[in-house]
Amino acid sequence: MSSYRDHYGRSLEYLRVSVTDRCNFRCPYCRPETGELYDPPADHLKAAEIARVVDVSRQLGVRAVRFTGGEPLLRRDLPDVIAAVRDLGVTDLALTTNAWRLAKRTKSLWQAGLRRINISLDALSKDRFRRLSGGLDIEPTLKGIDAAIEQGFEVKTNTVVMAGENSGELLELAQFAWARGLTPRFIELMPIGAGALATHRRIDVEEILQAFDAVPEPQNEAIRYGRGPASYWYHEGNPHQKLGVIGATTRNFCASCNRARLTATGGFRPCLASNLGYEIRPLLRQGCTDQELLNGILEGMGRKPEGHRFHEGLAGQNAMRGIGG
Ligand code: SAM
Ligand code: SF4
Repeated sequence: MSSYRDHYGRSLEYLRVSVTDRCNFRCPYCRPETGELYDPPADHLKAAEIARVVDVSRQLGVRAVRFTGGEPLLRRDLPDVIAAVRDLGVTDLALTTNAWRLAKRTKSLWQAGLRRINISLDALSKDRFRRLSGGLDIEPTLKGIDAAIEQGFEVKTNTVVMAGENSGELLELAQFAWARGLTPRFIELMPIGAGALATHRRIDVEEILQAFDAVPEPQNEAIRYGRGPASYWYHEGNPHQKLGVIGATTRNFCASCNRARLTATGGFRPCLASNLGYEIRPLLRQGCTDQELLNGILEGMGRKPEGHRFHEGLAGQNAMRGIGG
């Protein structure tokens, strides 16, 4: 285990890699209606460049990588990106996706070494799904979920809870997941991206848990499930109906944050809520040494703030689509 600690004593174990800032969905808490700017594709890091950043980050303790975006399945060479990281010897590899284009790609992703997939599912009602996705049908996402289960992936569903939108559908979404042996997770809307203009829609984790009459999963480090900021609960105390909740605003977990993010264009970002970090792409493309790359990453990590200030009403400066949610 690496002895690296940031200014506030936190380790670095987990890197979330955005492989693209493009997306086929338009979720209301993520993408604004208009006025988005996109990175030039030539600026997107290539598979080998991503693998090199992961490789050097391992010196600081990175041992798990999640591929995200934007919508990572829009990137055709996604299996090559994953395989390049797998070939370094990193075995804890995961993906976050809206699954709309997943059904036909499960085999190639599995062969690349991927084993875990978190699938965003904000609604089961067809009309609501179409509205929340920005006009797309739910069927391809449902097919993607089934295909992932069939392939053998460990699947979780992620739902961002929005008052007056999907807040009445939570039990149905959970039952959908439990019926397939999956763990549903419910996420508090964060004031980042388009979510900064939708904070009135946030339902606090406490309220979500009340809706499930939830009882905390007994603490047992040996069988601790998940590596992120989610806490796990049992619906009405039933261990066969487990659910996770993530409350970035009301349950600030910054003090134990062990993660950093790499944007699609090579921005090393130690905090989701801040633009501070280090631009690695110029180094990579100028033929830097591993030591120079490590110094860049260390400089980025040195800018990691003590915590976000969502609870004080301050919005994050990054859209999830850009930084890799
Ligand atoms: N497109 C993929 C997806 O939706 O799963 C991966 C990228 S998306 C940015 C990653 C996660 O960020 C999703 O689970 C999404 O719901 C979440 N997210 C985006 N904006 C958010 C916000 N303002 N508050 C809470 N979660 C957000
Ligand atoms: Fe796309 Fe994911 Fe953002 Fe929704 S949350 S708009 S699917 S990147």
